[in-house]
Amino acid sequence: MLSSRATKQILINARPGAIPNLINHRASPMNCPVCKTSELISTELEPKLSALQCAACDGHWISGNKYWQWLEEHSANLPERVHEDETLPLAEPGKPVDCPECRFRMVKYLVGRGLTFTVDHCQGCKGIWLDRNEWGALKKRNLHDDLNLMFTSFWQTGAEREARKKRMEQRYVTRFGADDYAEIKRIRWWLDTKVNREELLAYLMDKDPFDV
Ligand SMILES: [Zn+2]
Ligand SMILES: [Zn+2]
Repeated sequence: MLSSRATKQILINARPGAIPNLINHRASPMNCPVCKTSELISTELEPKLSALQCAACDGHWISGNKYWQWLEEHSANLPERVHEDETLPLAEPGKPVDCPECRFRMVKYLVGRGLTFTVDHCQGCKGIWLDRNEWGALKKRNLHDDLNLMFTSFWQTGAEREARKKRMEQRYVTRFGADDYAEIKRIRWWLDTKVNREELLAYLMDKDPFDV
């Protein structure tokens, strides 16, 4: 059975003057999915990539097909830039976001690669919601043209592993103190480079290595 939306679409298409109606429908104002009441306004995020922006929270909505089109037209995928510290103030309210186009609850995807925020993606219309400065932060690292990859399980598995490692590191810092943790990490790295690692470890663990 056809959904009521599909039925409505058929009715619109069957009517004379269908095209102007569709244009009107597309041009209807869309509210910010975070602020709810603030209307999104058209902006140019990049040359040939238009988006909608919220003047209140500075978030951006990129429709799925516009992003894909831009990816295709945009020159070769830019290599990731590493060792670039993130200094832009990010909003990341962490609240659930509903797609402003089709109302689906959006899925939060980890960015990873040293960036700790998430990007909201709609699995229905493939649209993308970015909170304040997230596009800028991605662009600084040349990850703005990798959003399509970010939404794959392969990318997410890596990002989850990275997030787990970060949480564990924080626990060790709390437990040992930052200086001792840095030192034990250095010793561990040094041990890993040795062929007689086991012997060295036995020496370290021995209560009295001179007692034979
Ligand atoms: Zn907003
Ligand atoms: Zn959607």
